[in-house]
This record gives sequence, structure tokens and C-alpha cells, in this order.
Amino acid sequence: MTCKEPIGLEALVAYWLGEVSARREAMLESHIFGCAHCSGRLEELAMLAAGVRAAVKDGMVSLVVCAPFVDAMRRAGLCLREYHLDPGASVNCSIRADDDAVIARIRAPLAGVKRLDVVSTQGAGESEQRLADVPFDAGSGEVLVMPSAAWLKTMPAFTTRMRLIAVDATGDRPIGDYTFNHSPS
Ligand SMILES: [Zn+2]
Repeated sequence: MTCKEPIGLEALVAYWLGEVSARREAMLESHIFGCAHCSGRLEELAMLAAGVRAAVKDGMVSLVVCAPFVDAMRRAGLCLREYHLDPGASVNCSIRADDDAVIARIRAPLAGVKRLDVVSTQGAGESEQRLADVPFDAGSGEVLVMPSAAWLKTMPAFTTRMRLIAVDATGDRPIGDYTFNHSPS
């Protein structure tokens, strides 16, 4: 299984996130469909970012990714801006034109958590977005939230509140609240 012109990881990530032009997407797609090597790599990426593509297609603006996915983006040379938050914390955040992605590393007591949901609310009185059963590594004690960079770059100043909820048979248990005060760069 070899490929003479393997698609770079950066291009695969962009393709996966739906952040390439329609023309480029068609080019990448025709290569990937005919190439076992590159479709295998895309599949690996897909497993790291489970649910990412579906969420993008549903118009969701925030995704939860796992640490190996972020590491792969960094190795691919993407420019990442990171924010670290403890439960109850708020942060002033932004995205610059040359940032490829923003990652919020939100810490939470995850020991024993079986299923984790993220509920986010934007501004005042807007509807909630609930991401159910997101990937997380209990040992790391943090959840990695990645908003769509393309969307974030179009946004004026706004505030998003995020709540992590541990879910089990007895119901919902909030384990952390986080506030993001975004301003355009
Ligand atoms: Zn290939």
C-alpha cells in the first residue's frame, strides 16, 4: 500500500474539517477514493476526531477533540492558540487571522466519569447547544474544545458559557462551568 504523492496531514485535517474550497475538496476526494494509503490515513484521522465531520455538517460551531488529534495538527505545522481554564474560570480569548485553530483546554474532575456532555450557551437568551458523549481522557483531567476557526474569525465580541455534565443512570451532574469572553483581534 504505497502512494507516490501522499496527501499531507495538514491537507487531510483541513479536508476532514470541511475547511477547503469545493474545487480542492473534489480534487482531494478523487485521490482519496482511489488510494488505499491516503484513505487509510484519513480513516486514522477520522478515528482521532470522531464526530468532527458530522458536527461540522450539522452546523455546530464547537467540537470536542482528543489530544492525539491536537498533536497531529501541531506536527502538521498548524498554528494553534490554546487557552487553559479551571472549573469556574473565565478567559478573555481571541483568534488571529493567521491562527489555524483555537483549542480550549478545560480542566475538570473526570475520574469515574462514564459519559460526558458539553452544553454551551452563547450571548443572552440564545438556545443551548449540547454535544453528547464527547471524547475525553479521564487521566488527563481535561477536555479539549475546538471551535470552528472559520466561524470564529467572522464573529464580533461575544460571550460563551460552557458547562461540563457527567451523565449516568441517575441523571446529569454538572462538574464545571467556564466562560469565554471573545473579542475579534
Ligand atoms: Zn495517496
